[in-house]
Amino acid sequence: MRFAKPLLAAFALGSMVALPAHAELDVASLKQSIETSFESEYPKLDALYKDIHAHPEIAFQEEKTATKLAAEMRAIGFEVTEKVGKTGLVALYKNGDGPTIMVRTELDALPMEEKTGLPYASRDKTIWQGRETFVTHSCGHDIHMASWVGTAKTLVGLKDQWKGTLMFIAQPAEEVGAGARAMLADGLFTRFPKPDAGFALHDGAFPYGYVNYRVGVGSSNADGLYIKFKGRGGHGAVPQATIDPVMMASRFVVDVQSVISREKDPTEFGVVSIGSLHAGTTGNIIPDEAVLLGTIRTFKPDVRAKMHDGIERTAKAVAAMANAPAPDIKIAEGIKAVINDPAVVATAEKVLKAAFGDKFRATPPVTPSEDFSEYINAGVPSMFFNIGVYDPERVAAARNGGPPLPGNHSPLFAPVPKPTIQTGVTAMTLAVLSAFDQKAKGQ
Ligand SMILES: [Zn+2]
Ligand SMILES: [Zn+2]
Repeated sequence: MRFAKPLLAAFALGSMVALPAHAELDVASLKQSIETSFESEYPKLDALYKDIHAHPEIAFQEEKTATKLAAEMRAIGFEVTEKVGKTGLVALYKNGDGPTIMVRTELDALPMEEKTGLPYASRDKTIWQGRETFVTHSCGHDIHMASWVGTAKTLVGLKDQWKGTLMFIAQPAEEVGAGARAMLADGLFTRFPKPDAGFALHDGAFPYGYVNYRVGVGSSNADGLYIKFKGRGGHGAVPQATIDPVMMASRFVVDVQSVISREKDPTEFGVVSIGSLHAGTTGNIIPDEAVLLGTIRTFKPDVRAKMHDGIERTAKAVAAMANAPAPDIKIAEGIKAVINDPAVVATAEKVLKAAFGDKFRATPPVTPSEDFSEYINAGVPSMFFNIGVYDPERVAAARNGGPPLPGNHSPLFAPVPKPTIQTGVTAMTLAVLSAFDQKAKGQ
């Protein structure tokens, strides 16, 4: 049976307009049903989560992780294609005629050591960029994977509630911003159906049971900055015979912040950070070049264009002041901002608000970046939302001056698995059902 209640109020109005004979989702009954199913499935999800957590794999090395997820999805009844975009998975479940709804998880972990002390903490190591490193799921992609499998299982259990195709994708290499592009380049939307709507979630350092979302911009545009200032090397005691690139680099690092403070609209988000500055070998030699690496973050394309222009102009001006040749400037286009689709969000919003009440909150966009934007830019109207991971009392204590909460990418990041995954499964299942329901209404 379908968890639906008739639009009695609308019919009672006696409107002359022919209303579609379609019922609203009965969110309370659905939520109850999802929670009951979650409770019986949780032991398996918990084991999967802890196994993936203890054995993380880094960008494009996620072979064992992908194999585990493929087995889970086949057991649920999905048709699974492996090695899409190197280590990615596409899992399809067809359930009659209807739209295709995509749910994405990431597969990858980070090159760092876990220091949580949890019994299921990772001690695994790998080779990354030529060096041995520990590997840790400190961004919580393991939570996303467990929620993804749990959502798939729940939606199949509720298959009398929707018609269409589930397209569950597991993406490699989110942390290096390359996995979504790899899957798209490998025919994600040509070898497989192009989804009518897409969803993804990310965990974060706020109370479990809460879901944060936003309409429009959800995360930042990230561009890489490379500048080489070219000088003339010489003796540190004879500066007049040199053109000092260290001076140019130093001046640039300070002056470029005036692009932020004087050129950009102060009400708009924009950041430029120089994270690497290399020049010279010792104290008494003025080197002949200085190389800077930075990152540029923005939400809006016009702010982005303005910042690129200001950064280039500042670098050229600094070189001109020193009577140096023009610097080499490269701005590498990185990940684009996630822009949540207003219609997809509006549909999910009604259902999630009914299910979570005040724990479903609209929040400002976050300043990190996320390559889920690649699917959106490929034409899939989508919603990206966040779920909390910590005990609410611990969050309250942190707000009142207690120990700070370790965020994503901290060696101490430690979600509480059950309530976090439960929120992920419940919110994602309802979001997907809302999208099927909306399409079934023909809206
Ligand atoms: Zn991350
Ligand atoms: Zn992440």
